[in-house]
Amino acid sequence: IRDLSVDAASTEHAEQIVQAVKVLQDIKILDVYDRTFSIHRGGKITIESKLDLHNQADLSMAYTPGVGRICKAIAQDPDQVYALTIKGNTVAIVTDGSAVLGLGNLGPEAALPVMEGKAMLFKEFAGIDAFPICLATQDTDKIIETIKNIAPVFGGVNLEDISAPRCFEIETRLKQELDIPVFHDDQHGTAIVSLAALINALKLVKKSLEDVRIVINGAGAAGVAIARLLRKAGARNILLCDSKGILSKKRSDLTQEKLEFAVEASGTLAGALVGTDIFLGVSAPGVLTPEMVRSMAKDSIVMAMANPIPEIQPELIAHDVAVMATGRSDYPNQINNVLAFPGVFRGALDCRASSITTNMYLEAAFAIANLINATDLDREHIIPSVFDERVASAVAGAVQQAARQDGVARR
Ligand code: NAP
Ligand code: MG
Repeated sequence: IRDLSVDAASTEHAEQIVQAVKVLQDIKILDVYDRTFSIHRGGKITIESKLDLHNQADLSMAYTPGVGRICKAIAQDPDQVYALTIKGNTVAIVTDGSAVLGLGNLGPEAALPVMEGKAMLFKEFAGIDAFPICLATQDTDKIIETIKNIAPVFGGVNLEDISAPRCFEIETRLKQELDIPVFHDDQHGTAIVSLAALINALKLVKKSLEDVRIVINGAGAAGVAIARLLRKAGARNILLCDSKGILSKKRSDLTQEKLEFAVEASGTLAGALVGTDIFLGVSAPGVLTPEMVRSMAKDSIVMAMANPIPEIQPELIAHDVAVMATGRSDYPNQINNVLAFPGVFRGALDCRASSITTNMYLEAAFAIANLINATDLDREHIIPSVFDERVASAVAGAVQQAARQDGVARR
């Protein structure tokens, strides 16, 4: 080979190939082709028409003058918007770009590829038409006002990658002020899947959620939502830590959400972990050490979910824990929100839920956990694969049933 064109899945990968090839003589690299960039050209989704437009008659029904009769019917009975438009199967994915993946405040334009990807997942896993909306404001009131103003088009709102603590107020107020489901995925998607994984991990070690000691490291969007849902599921002994250690009543810097979990004790993560049954990390890479894990109780469970680099590398503690999970696809037990949000919205849209309740989160978690039957359950298989085709419909069914029980289903 004299002239080489390099095909790589990532820039990092391309660099490695370039370096490797350089040691060989007589090879000239002409071009480096990055597949990930390449698939993004022009964006990842598109809008397609459901109707054929061949002639004047087609046109006058799909558009004016025919469509005018549809408008009048909806004006007379606004509920008809669900039957006669895209609303009932359409979700707005709304971000302000303030907490894009784990990358920080990159702004609305840089958030768009993530939201496009999310729209793909909605379609792929639940047949939902989701549309990315990246707002050019990070002001809480303006975000709320904008979402309320665009709500007529959508059957639901998925809030995404909005930083804590603003995400809490934005979601709470929108839930009060809108009659369509509003769901902040970084909070509740994570909480649902974490609970599902934990339920199954606890079956393996034969411990009960009511009795175990749980430390959650990270008290942002994910940590607070996980703690709230675990409490609702029956957990009684939960300690939260943030970047400054245990959320202690002695501290004066705690937000309203952090105060909900403040305890008398104070100290560091290392101190909090001694004798604990469960570590749940939604914090930062590498903050958990093997020594800390070894100080935990027998048959400990570690879920290190910081992305893309977990709180601890699984191989460092393979023999020290009973169950290990991460957010990554290249290790067993991937905790990934895609197990939850497509089915949650499918269920909520199908019964035209006016809201998403805590019971709907809980039932979604139980549905995911129950897909792993007793014979398949082992330490490397506590949660279904994201490609398990049963997941979205199982979640949707459970969510609908809970919506009916809670009286929020309108159909
Ligand atoms: P967030 O709202 O920014 O919260 C991050 C939290 O982590 C904050 O409470 C922060 O402390 C704390 N933190 C940062 N460095 C820490 C350290 N060294 N020790 C202890 N706590 C530390 O972010 P988020 O949306 O909750 O997400 C947090 C992490 O979880 C990210 O890495 C994200 O990728 C991951 N995550 C994974 C999944 C999954 O499915 N696997 C889902 C959601 C989130 P302060 O409050 O003191 O700043
Ligand atoms: Mg997110």
